[in-house]
Amino acid sequence: MSMPVPVVWSADCLRHEPAGEVWLGLRDPGTEVPDRALVLRAALEAAGAPVQDARPHDDAILRTVHDPRLVGHLAGIWADWDQAGLPADYGRDRVVPYLFPTGAMLAGLPLRVPPAAHARAGLFCYDTMTLVGPGSWEAIRGAVDAALTAAGLVGSGARLAYALCRPPGHHATRGGYGGSCYLNNAAVAAQALRVAGAAQVAVLDIDAHHGNGTQMIFYDRPDVWYGSLHVDPGAGWFPHYAGYPDERGRGAGHGYNWNLPLAPGTGDEGWLDALDVLCVEARELRPDAVVVSLGLDAAAEDPESPLQVTAAGYREAGRRIAALAPAVFIQEGGYHLPTLGPLAVATLQGAAEGAA
Ligand SMILES: [Zn+2]
Repeated sequence: MSMPVPVVWSADCLRHEPAGEVWLGLRDPGTEVPDRALVLRAALEAAGAPVQDARPHDDAILRTVHDPRLVGHLAGIWADWDQAGLPADYGRDRVVPYLFPTGAMLAGLPLRVPPAAHARAGLFCYDTMTLVGPGSWEAIRGAVDAALTAAGLVGSGARLAYALCRPPGHHATRGGYGGSCYLNNAAVAAQALRVAGAAQVAVLDIDAHHGNGTQMIFYDRPDVWYGSLHVDPGAGWFPHYAGYPDERGRGAGHGYNWNLPLAPGTGDEGWLDALDVLCVEARELRPDAVVVSLGLDAAAEDPESPLQVTAAGYREAGRRIAALAPAVFIQEGGYHLPTLGPLAVATLQGAAEGAA
């Protein structure tokens, strides 16, 4: 069976080489590597999916989703770090923050922007795992263009589209980055669909981890509903501080945010049951479009989560989600290189069946 879902990607995604992550004080090799994009692309192409390049877009929508200061910081911090001599003179080959100006530190003082690049590294980053290197910005911006291009396809009548975004995005908040995410590709796609005329958008986040960034970007809004199933942060999993069921939205957005945390070890049955709960809620809103944060890290083989979902589970998820409305799938996590491609193919095959 040929795969009828258009795949949008940007070759720039390969330029982001985080070269590891600093976790609990030590630099580990990291799992968010360029090969992820290559195996995804190869598998989708082999399955017959038409692959197209992302079209360049201006920053208009990006700057309504994110604080423009975050966008400017990401665009310039590597050059500043490099110019300060940190790689050449100090052996610091990636931007890693060592100081975070938290509310507790400032205790009411105004937030200044210090001139030293090594001090500014912690101004927008909220963890030590999300490194910036020489080609990172081009990849980050290319992922946004891929999301916007795929959203544009669905906004202009396509039933399904998939954006092969790398780096992923759902942990990026309006003004902060972390969790291997820099700019929120799914949130940008959702906002683009709103601008293109979708009155109600539903974001379904099936990555193994809670999409704290997407949740908070739309937390006060009823027009973009957010539903997530993910491994329980209360059981010790990233992002630890968000993803609990009592986070229901705020103000006009109250009731438009749904978190369904799952116990470690949850497999197809529990995962799909939770998805059904979200699909029932989403369907009641009669969404004009769905954005799927497609993390493939809930799979049993994945090293980054204890969920135990199979390829058949992902295929069924694709089928059920695509039955809701026209859908843009945005690649999020997924780190087991040998199974990543087959999982993406299974999901999009299911989606094609659900949309038929
Ligand atoms: Zn994840």
